[in-house]
Amino acid sequence: MAYPKIEVDLSKIKHNTATLVKLCNKYGIRVAGVTKVFCGNAEIARAYLDGGVSYLADSRIENLIKLKDFKVPKILLRLPMISEAERVVEYTDISLNSELATIKALSKAAKEKERNHKIILMFDLGDLREGYFKEEDLFTDIEEILKLENVEVIGLGTNLTCYGGVIPSEENLGRLVNLAKKIEEDYRLKLEIISGGNSSTLHMLIDGKKLEGINQLRLGESIVLGRETAFGNRIENTHDDAFQLVVEIIEIKDKPSVPVGEIGMDAFGKVPTFEDRGIRKRIICAIGKQDIDFDSILPMDEGIKILGGSSDHLILDGTESNIDYKVGDEIRFKLTYGGILRAMTSEYVKKVIR
Ligand SMILES: *Cc1c(COP(=O)(O)O)cnc(C)c1O
Repeated sequence: MAYPKIEVDLSKIKHNTATLVKLCNKYGIRVAGVTKVFCGNAEIARAYLDGGVSYLADSRIENLIKLKDFKVPKILLRLPMISEAERVVEYTDISLNSELATIKALSKAAKEKERNHKIILMFDLGDLREGYFKEEDLFTDIEEILKLENVEVIGLGTNLTCYGGVIPSEENLGRLVNLAKKIEEDYRLKLEIISGGNSSTLHMLIDGKKLEGINQLRLGESIVLGRETAFGNRIENTHDDAFQLVVEIIEIKDKPSVPVGEIGMDAFGKVPTFEDRGIRKRIICAIGKQDIDFDSILPMDEGIKILGGSSDHLILDGTESNIDYKVGDEIRFKLTYGGILRAMTSEYVKKVIR
């Protein structure tokens, strides 16, 4: 069975990666290619490496295990769970951290496995997801971490525009860089990595602003979709359709736009409302909410409108399309970040990577 499927164009991924690596390198910044949106697929990660990333990074250890044979440093992005400390030191070189108890667990696991684990400490500049919020807490923990064996603090990082929507600026990133300088002086540490965020930091480089002191960005969405994420603008010389969803039509019929009979709840327990647009050409495709969120897919045929659907059915309005679709034909969609994530995660969506 060939449908539904997600098609991934590796040459487009490599091209996007190379464009972004070039932009970052111009400012002395190295790129960590973030692989979580495609569940750490090794073929796609290979295209990142061919495009010039210096690290591979993922939020989940299961994904990093799939990448274990690549000879670049691997970074765990989500703060480790204490319960996974052993796997973290075994399969990753660097992890992002903000909790002393976890770092102690990493130290113990690393010692047992006779390995060294590197740590980037996270500082929250206001977005209110992970990271130390008070500088004194960070300093107190660093003193403790320096006493631990087999773990080494190699950097300071931050994450923005994820929970709170806070946009990276010269002001907030400047604070990170100054904090790093203070740590280097006070604790006679060399912080080799100052990690200045994700795809939302790129707008500064695109505007030609040098981020003095920042030498790493962790990029996912900008590579896979060719857009920066502070304002959602497309990035020049990139593709936005490297990932495409392809589904098969299972029914085409002319039907009214308002259901016939008394209206109760739909399959998800909501009472639906309808606009009367007369008789429309309705196309049903074999994919559903189990695999995709309908607001995360964009038909490549601009004449098609998404009406909705249920767990296993997607209903489209094909009345305005110039194409004379037949049952058994395919329909293509571009995807948002959330759409790629869900489709790559669904075991019902075939992955065609080439
Ligand atoms: C997901 C993630 C990134 C990548 O974010 P994009 O917006 O996809 O570039 C970077 N850092 C952390 C900590 C993440 O969890």
